[in-house]
Amino acid sequence: MRIVVPVKHVPDIHSERKFTEQGRVSRGAQDGTLNELDENAIESALRLVESFGPDVREAHEVIVLTIGPDESDGAIRKAYQLGADRGIRVTDPALAGSDVFGTAHAVAGAIRKIHAGGPVDLVITGMAALDGLGSVIPSLLAAELDLPQLTLATKFEVEDGVATVTRELDGVTEVLTAALPAVVSVTDHVNTPRYPNFKLIMAARTKDITVWDLAEIGVDASRVGDPGARAIVTKSQPRPPRTLTELHIDKGEGGRALAEYLINNDLV
Ligand SMILES: Cc1cc2nc3c(=O)[nH]c(=O)nc-3n(C[C@H](O)[C@H](O)[C@H](O)COP(=O)(O)OP(=O)(O)OC[C@H]3O[C@@H](n4cnc5c(N)ncnc54)[C@H](O)[C@@H]3O)c2cc1C
Repeated sequence: MRIVVPVKHVPDIHSERKFTEQGRVSRGAQDGTLNELDENAIESALRLVESFGPDVREAHEVIVLTIGPDESDGAIRKAYQLGADRGIRVTDPALAGSDVFGTAHAVAGAIRKIHAGGPVDLVITGMAALDGLGSVIPSLLAAELDLPQLTLATKFEVEDGVATVTRELDGVTEVLTAALPAVVSVTDHVNTPRYPNFKLIMAARTKDITVWDLAEIGVDASRVGDPGARAIVTKSQPRPPRTLTELHIDKGEGGRALAEYLINNDLV
């Protein structure tokens, strides 16, 4: 089985986010990292290939794929530490300014190229990238590749060429199936990602990463970057720091003061 896991290299959510004059996230300005939610996707793929048994592990492949600048190698190396077999990065100056459509188009182009070298059975994504929070790439990918989509899985298994996912909706639990190949997105409830072991951490430092540009994945530059973007960020500004509006030192009246505050501010 060959599984592609698209992953995103994102600014560390604990770092201060900086924006360029064009409203783009300034990616060089802070430490980047593998999108945390993509670790659940990698874990799902690894568990699946491992379920066939250690003797045939080599016959199966988990390929991580990222669209992003050179620094995105960090996300691939983290995936290597977890056990991914192969990493591919698509980088091209024309990708700058890509919106979700452009990014999905490039991810799909790379998956088609991987598929041309041997069939891809599954695409497993995270539920969202913690910087963009669009949660739309999985559905766009399914549409681009003309594959069934099973999104927001809290449980995921594959048997006899059929993927089954459980989805927890508001008051409803859904179970969906789709014949492979399919696109699956998993939530952070689907599993607990493993810790990398020392051997993999060491090996990840020097493991090869394949780099493709747009021409190599057969994607026309007009479909990505600024020319292909249908949504343009017109303004972005940091959220103002929280200000302390009222401070009460509790001298036995704290409960009353709190209740009055809630009532006076329509918070009850
Ligand atoms: C080269 C490049 C340039 C960009 N330039 C800009 C810009 O100028 N302005 C701006 O506002 N935004 C820019 N973006 C960000 C872009 O608009 C979105 O953030 C991105 O398309 C994904 O949307 P999302 O973060 O909402 O992902 P979601 O839909 O929330 O992600 C869901 C899942 O899709 C997969 N995924 C998401 N992104 C990628 C990726 N890049 N590679 C592989 N898999 C992925 C992951 O599995 C992730 O868990 C750029 C993105 C790229 C790749």
